[in-house]
Amino acid sequence: MIGPQERWYRFAARRRRGTGVHVPLHPSYRCRACGAAWPCPPARLSLLIDFRGNRVGLMIYLAAHLARALEELPDTHPALIAGQILHWVPRRR
Ligand SMILES: [Zn+2]
Repeated sequence: MIGPQERWYRFAARRRRGTGVHVPLHPSYRCRACGAAWPCPPARLSLLIDFRGNRVGLMIYLAAHLARALEELPDTHPALIAGQILHWVPRRR
């Protein structure tokens, strides 16, 4: 498990390299790199790797995004936003 500081360094390094960073655009909550609904498949993979062993941390991180997305997308049904932001996370085994 990596901490928030290391996660930030890795994110900053990816951004410096100029590779497509799959982060949400605001207020659309679509991916800045590929245009898909965020988190897009590359963002989901990256989140699962970054939060490996820290499912609670991942859910807290996504809950913060959910709160922001609910504010930014007032015309979208909340259940659809929750599905997009939260419901892709694999269940615990
Ligand atoms: Zn993307």
